[in-house]
Amino acid sequence: MQIRNLEKIIQSIPTSDGGGVKLRRSLGQSSTLRLDPFLMLDEFSSDNADDYIAGFPDHPHRGFETVTYMLDGQMLHQDHLGNKGELKSGGAQWMTAGRGIIHSEMPQQESGRMRGFQLWVNLPASEKMKPAAYRDIQPEDIPMLTLKNGTTVKVIAGTAVLDGNTIHGPIQGISTEPLFLDVHLPAGETFTQVVTDSHHAFIYPYEGQAAIGPKADQRLLAPQSAGVLSAGDCIEVNAKETVTAFLLLAARPLREPVVQYGPFVMNTRDEIEQAIADYQNGELV
Ligand code: MN
Repeated sequence: MQIRNLEKIIQSIPTSDGGGVKLRRSLGQSSTLRLDPFLMLDEFSSDNADDYIAGFPDHPHRGFETVTYMLDGQMLHQDHLGNKGELKSGGAQWMTAGRGIIHSEMPQQESGRMRGFQLWVNLPASEKMKPAAYRDIQPEDIPMLTLKNGTTVKVIAGTAVLDGNTIHGPIQGISTEPLFLDVHLPAGETFTQVVTDSHHAFIYPYEGQAAIGPKADQRLLAPQSAGVLSAGDCIEVNAKETVTAFLLLAARPLREPVVQYGPFVMNTRDEIEQAIADYQNGELV
């Protein structure tokens, strides 16, 4: 077993997006701070409605997938295909923009806590122009397992092996083979997960810090930071003194050129210009 080391730390920075939603961006702050095929990770977390009430009004995407995972709060998704879905606490949404989607994500609350994540996952060149697709995943459709040491794990995408049990998340069959886990680790405990050696992986603690790597060579990762891991077939995370909650993401890298212009992510400059022209001409979708 080759236990992965914590190789690089990407601290999140405060920013805003959509109609003016305050959020923290780790991956995707710049074109050099990505982890193929992951393009971006945003965390939004606030008890103050002013920070989120403007939501994300109608906007386009082309060439990749957007994944929203809610911890607290409610958002309504609507798109040009006529899909309408309520995102609830503990639920997720997996949207494949493909050749184009125009959608909005608007808060369905005027007070209280809104907390969650948006992850952008790239598509291979061969799938960038496929038809848009959308999946709503209800909280009860996300399997959760409590391990012998008290750790709870939710499997949102891919397949995890936990205490010898093979657990399949609701999202399967994506060509980058993403694994997306939400892990709550009690103080002092260790979480171990086997992963495909060649897949890129990172950890994002959203509560408490995580000690990552083999016991003899652990490095600490502060909350609200993305920790990029080295190659290896096993991930080990230790919670040290406090409860640690973190996301674990792994996927097969595409190793293709990435050209991004805002919500369009393609392989060449020409394809980006085409996307902009298509959007302006009402032919994106
Ligand atoms: Mn969007």
